[in-house]
Amino acid sequence: MARKFFVGGNWKCNGTIDDVKKIVTMLNESEVPSEDIVEVVVSPPFVFLPLVKALLRSDFAIAAQNCWVRRGGAFTGEISAEMLVNLGIPWVILGHSERRSLLGESNDITHWTNIVLAYEPVWAIGTGKVATPAQAQEVHVGLRKWLSEYVSSEVASSTRIIYGGSVNAANCKELAAQPDVDGFLVGGASLKPEFVDIIKSAA
Ligand code: PEP
Repeated sequence: MARKFFVGGNWKCNGTIDDVKKIVTMLNESEVPSEDIVEVVVSPPFVFLPLVKALLRSDFAIAAQNCWVRRGGAFTGEISAEMLVNLGIPWVILGHSERRSLLGESNDITHWTNIVLAYEPVWAIGTGKVATPAQAQEVHVGLRKWLSEYVSSEVASSTRIIYGGSVNAANCKELAAQPDVDGFLVGGASLKPEFVDIIKSAA
């Protein structure tokens, strides 16, 4: 089954209004493969979601970096999935290893429809050390086997498994060439012009 290449930009806890405007301008002016070839999703901090939504080109989508597990109510400081939907935000990053290691979040993911799975070796996140294409391919194949065994063969063949961990303009092409690498989750480089080169590795 053909899986559309997916490139996510995780801006983490970075930026000011001016920085956000600069990144969005850079993205809006970029020439990248069409939506048939690559799905691009950027994930600003919560406070900048409305601004990015207002300014970003319509062929790029937006993700929140987390959301509350229940409906709204007396949960000070939390943002519910309903609120994100209401704002027109179709994606959310859940279970990032920074949240699991720093904030004690669990590994649970129970619903597979519309999930993009990111393999991110913790030693590669923000370190400049990237998995080799062969390492990424091996783990992605292993994840697909796990999905086939514990979820279903349909989910295993249709779920996009993306690689994250120090992806940049120099290493993205070789990684993207691996048959089970369906895209990237990009941290640091998603704040820079090289994010456009990473998107282009889809074609
Ligand atoms: C990430 O935070 O998901 C990530 C992969 O970061 P970086 O690209 O900076 O390693």
